[in-house]
Amino acid sequence: MADGPYFEDTHRLLRESVSRFVANEVVPHGAAWEEAGRVPREVLRKMGELGFLGLRHAEEHGGAGLDALSTAVLAEELGRSSFGGFAVTVLVHTDMASPHLRHAGSAEQMKRWMPEIIAGKCITAVAVTEPDAGSDVRSIRTRAVRDGARWKLTGSKMFITNGVHADLYFVAAKSDPAAGTKGISMFIVEKGAPGFAVGRSLDKMGWRSSDTAELVFDGCEAELLGEEGRGFYSIMRNFQNERIAIGAMAIGESAKALELTLDYVKTRKAFGAPLWDKQAVRQRLAMLAAKVEAGRQLVWHAAALDAEGRDCVREVSMVKAYCGELVNEVMYDCLQFHGGMGYMRESPIERMTRDARVQSIGGGATEVMLEEVAKRL
Ligand SMILES: Cc1cc2nc3c(=O)[nH]c(=O)nc-3n(C[C@H](O)[C@H](O)[C@H](O)COP(=O)(O)OP(=O)(O)OC[C@H]3O[C@@H](n4cnc5c(N)ncnc54)[C@H](O)[C@@H]3O)c2cc1C
Repeated sequence: MADGPYFEDTHRLLRESVSRFVANEVVPHGAAWEEAGRVPREVLRKMGELGFLGLRHAEEHGGAGLDALSTAVLAEELGRSSFGGFAVTVLVHTDMASPHLRHAGSAEQMKRWMPEIIAGKCITAVAVTEPDAGSDVRSIRTRAVRDGARWKLTGSKMFITNGVHADLYFVAAKSDPAAGTKGISMFIVEKGAPGFAVGRSLDKMGWRSSDTAELVFDGCEAELLGEEGRGFYSIMRNFQNERIAIGAMAIGESAKALELTLDYVKTRKAFGAPLWDKQAVRQRLAMLAAKVEAGRQLVWHAAALDAEGRDCVREVSMVKAYCGELVNEVMYDCLQFHGGMGYMRESPIERMTRDARVQSIGGGATEVMLEEVAKRL
């Protein structure tokens, strides 16, 4: 695959080393992690040792200080593992939760947590969604009340990835309920903080190896992250990177599904010849390959704009909408061409189809993303 004008040798080397890690350390064990409902901590530590968890973080804390194109490379290769639950466990830590600390943390907060985050010894989660507020972030109800130099949080959060096993949580709450979006702030909650509890671990259709939880805060001790009243802005800013990661992951998954399906239809025979000989099959796969390539170029383009510090909300929203839908379209047809075998649990495409479903919902539902695009047309 040609990588066009976007990449430098650093990105290419990164792609090679993540791909090698996925082949040797993920693919042989991914099914067992799906059964266990979690990715073992040692795997994340190993990724930390290899430098994969600090690509975007500052060199002074042990990171690599790279740009959004490195996020795209990491996410695409993790997606190609075919284990979406593993990929999202890592990407929430690297590209959805810990960037909150990088963007808004004080020097002291950064020094305290960043080296451990990069090493994979401190795993992070981001908690915005609530039982009554998902797409509509401004209607969250978790309340933050000042308590001396610290804060107390009361409320609950829903669908939080890494919710059970994280060590550090970046939590959105209302510090001034009368001030609309300007009354939302971000807070840091440590695992074990008084008043904090994991409500329940949630049972999901896919992403089985990713832990997802409901969190409960009952006068929970928390520390302010960044400026008071700037939480909504921080969440929207971080969404940009998050959506590039989710889009790139979807492209990696789609490419892998096409690869598996091409292998299958070239060997599986029906009516005296391989399925590949049927024009309807190969043209459908050719069109999907074209769409995946288009999606990939859009992801890279958005990541390159982000790397240049340019406003790319329109492009990133297109990425999330397009890739979130595309991965479902690809999985549907790839499963179809696997026939009955595609419906069997032993076939990777069955798991990949379940994993894909959430990608048009989480991190910004397609309809919400299209509204962002429409506003900018
Ligand atoms: C497996 C999983 C992991 C998650 N991980 C996290 C996490 O780590 N942290 C976190 O904070 N959140 C997380 N989420 C939450 C996720 O981001 C939300 O589910 C998502 O934003 C949608 O919110 P909702 O579920 O409340 O749906 P709602 O906001 O209730 O929307 C329901 C549906 O209505 C439609 N809709 C919504 N708004 C509009 C609109 N304006 N116009 C037209 N149609 C619309 C969409 O089809 C949408 O899917 C996770 C969710 C899942 C399922």
